[in-house]
Amino acid sequence: MTRVSAGRAGNLATLAGIFLGSLVLVPIALAWEPQVSDYLRATDPALGIGIEFGRWNSQINLVYDPDGAPAPFGTSAVVIDLIEQAIAQWELVSGIKINITGTDRFAAIDENAGPSGKDGLVRVFWGPAGGAVGLAGPDGDFFDEDLGYFPYIDGSVELNDDPDQWDSPSELVGVLVHELGHLIGLGHSDNPHSVMFANPYNHLNHPRADDILAARALYGNGTLNISDVTKPVSQWLYTPPPAAPAGTTADLFKANSIFELGSFIAIDYDLPLTDVDASTKADDFLWFYYAIGPNNSRAIDIDATIVFVDPFGYLYESRQRDIECQLNFSCAAGVTVGETNVVKSVPGTWTIYVIDNAFNTLLHKLNFDVNTTKVFNAGPVANVSVTSVSSIVVNIRLDVSDAEGDAIEVVWHPQSTPSAAGITDKASDGSTVSRDITFPTASTHTLYIELRDDAARYDGSSAGSGGAGDGFQNLIAITVDLPIADSGDVHIR
Ligand SMILES: [Zn+2]
Repeated sequence: MTRVSAGRAGNLATLAGIFLGSLVLVPIALAWEPQVSDYLRATDPALGIGIEFGRWNSQINLVYDPDGAPAPFGTSAVVIDLIEQAIAQWELVSGIKINITGTDRFAAIDENAGPSGKDGLVRVFWGPAGGAVGLAGPDGDFFDEDLGYFPYIDGSVELNDDPDQWDSPSELVGVLVHELGHLIGLGHSDNPHSVMFANPYNHLNHPRADDILAARALYGNGTLNISDVTKPVSQWLYTPPPAAPAGTTADLFKANSIFELGSFIAIDYDLPLTDVDASTKADDFLWFYYAIGPNNSRAIDIDATIVFVDPFGYLYESRQRDIECQLNFSCAAGVTVGETNVVKSVPGTWTIYVIDNAFNTLLHKLNFDVNTTKVFNAGPVANVSVTSVSSIVVNIRLDVSDAEGDAIEVVWHPQSTPSAAGITDKASDGSTVSRDITFPTASTHTLYIELRDDAARYDGSSAGSGGAGDGFQNLIAITVDLPIADSGDVHIR
């Protein structure tokens, strides 16, 4: 269905820049202007996805429904705090604004209602979540042909209500970052270095380069204007506490009769691993094993946190453990780092920290390397040239390329377009696509262009399939301050 908002008289222009309907702007459009500027920029791949292209035009309002919350999440204030931590991450790196209005056990269940039956409050609630740990997405209003896309007006975030799904409250933050990614319009990424990767779901806790690029294309810069998205965001780096006094660690993580290595990683404790690589057994669990004792002159009982930090320097997972051993005894214990398939998808140097909770001191540190390369289908990219044609007409030229040489679709979503599908140009690696885009008025406008290839989105998905894996791979947003006088009037993200 199509919704035409009041205040503008029909479609002003075709894409070729020839006016068919309203005459209001014709004199301006016909006035020839010199090509005052030409802009070139190589765009980076961003593998965000919307099944139908859309975005939020204003702040997202969430409401938390605590009904059925599983054991670790019985206190609503704790859950609200964790939701706010996840929100803060997206707001730091993109211009999206998300507000949590509070807790309401009677929040309207309007997921299946049409646009007019929705209350505009995104309900965060507990349920079966289709067997996944979380399930989320936006709901669009009718297609808005003035905007050229579906404005999002509501949505839902469902979290799994089975207590066995959750090891710790902090785990919720990582899940929420992924689910809020869906809510703002991102689908699953092909790139394992993405919080939106789901093949398998990799338990990253922060948006990575592709996530940030996609969110920024949709919503602009956040409070942090990151110049190099491939570098870690310093605010998210994990900082371990200061080292514990030597006396405290004398009987910990040292060789004993059970583990002569003192501490190590392994799948089976009698086969320590030097690193994780392609040959490491799939569909199993990687463990961190450690020895305690044997010459401890007193019983050991330490309330500890074992922290796993991923190669980016971000906290990956933390687990509470009592480190215990009776007087003059040899003890050993182990804790899971994660599933081998998942760990193998996050290459680089990992760090394990063991923290003494009572004194907030570092008892032990162990590094291990994941030497794997996950091959994935890279999205197409484009160099973009923007040239002024007249006060409201702009020529946009895309020199497109695709690392795998796949066929490329360029999908334009200009304002004043009658079709939700946008306007598609077929292209291939190395080719050029160009269109004159007519904007409705000589003021500031943003044009969204999707670039996608015809390859399967990720292992297990198929090309052209529905679901969260389908959609655009690279999104370019071009904002023009019309009429264009100089390069400061064109912004590409
Ligand atoms: Zn997902």
